[in-house]
Amino acid sequence: MLDLFDNQEDAHRPIISEEELSDADVLIELKKIKEELKDQVVVLGHHYQQDDVIAFADITGDSLQLAREAARIDKPYIIFCGVHFMAETTDMLTKPNQKVILPDLRAGCSMADMAKRSEIDKAWTFMQKSTNEKIIPVTYINCAATLKAFVGENEGSICTSSNAEKIIGWALKQGTKLLFFPDQHLGRNTCFKMGIPLADMVVYNPNKLNGGLTSEQIHKAKVILWYGFCSVHQGFTLEQVLATKKRDPEMTVIVHPECNFEVTQAADDNGSTSYIIEKIAQSKAGSKFAVGTEINLVNRLAHEFPDKTIVSLSPYQCLCTTMYRVRPRWLLASFRAIKENKPINIISVSEDIAQSSIKALNRMLDVK
Ligand code: SF4
Repeated sequence: MLDLFDNQEDAHRPIISEEELSDADVLIELKKIKEELKDQVVVLGHHYQQDDVIAFADITGDSLQLAREAARIDKPYIIFCGVHFMAETTDMLTKPNQKVILPDLRAGCSMADMAKRSEIDKAWTFMQKSTNEKIIPVTYINCAATLKAFVGENEGSICTSSNAEKIIGWALKQGTKLLFFPDQHLGRNTCFKMGIPLADMVVYNPNKLNGGLTSEQIHKAKVILWYGFCSVHQGFTLEQVLATKKRDPEMTVIVHPECNFEVTQAADDNGSTSYIIEKIAQSKAGSKFAVGTEINLVNRLAHEFPDKTIVSLSPYQCLCTTMYRVRPRWLLASFRAIKENKPINIISVSEDIAQSSIKALNRMLDVK
């Protein structure tokens, strides 16, 4: 009998120690156990996962692609190699008899953590008091389920980095103002691209009284952006874009819209993870790209397209450290626990939160 974890609370703690099993042996056992449990388990891997985890993924993709794929799976266990909010979305889209497992419960997302439901409720009350115009809330999919439920309850929608423009356009037809959270950069970059001037946008900072805004500022603004950001993408700088272009004018700088406004404006192109992958895949041999997104994906693209030059825009490691918490040995711990019929690290969203969130997800899917 395998003695994996004392209880569910301790489940995220590393217990397959390196003394017990070397990294190489972990990979050997993973291969075996995955084959053994192939009728019961599907492994989903986000693009930002390390190669040794991606090697065991049955399906890879961005957060929405993976959640959608999960909805088509009929096996009882889905091990989600990604971060917490993605596993939550997957749980909401799968059947009640399926279990979604996150190999390490500490794999959160710093951006998602920057907006809490209590803060959003407080901000919403202040905004409603500040204006009688209709505000439509839109949340980036990178947030906790409770925030997805908030937009579901308040006539709003969820968006992804691929469809942000379409969803914001929809929202501004339903009301006259937009509240966008948690990522200020995706909100600002997208709204500006749609022709909304920066002067019509304000930033609500939950760490300040009333977000650091007056009622008049709320009333005058068209777009209220939440003060959240991705620590990985915010690390790219304008200086890096300018230095890259100076060093090699033939290099195409392509960045994710979670990068800040100056970087996105100076880059040659910007788009979601799927857009970046597609752009590079479709380019001709000999093309050169400096990419402003997570390093595991950039390295994988460089490996997959050896006939092209693909480098990181930054000389520093742009690693999503929370994604990196999912290590092969925790994946193995998840498999071992399933084999013992004692699954661990199950992510489960309560029925009421799930219902409101699904409402918001469906609104997103209905927008043409
Ligand atoms: S890359 Fe940024 S947004 Fe994505 S999971 Fe990591 S911290 Fe969150």
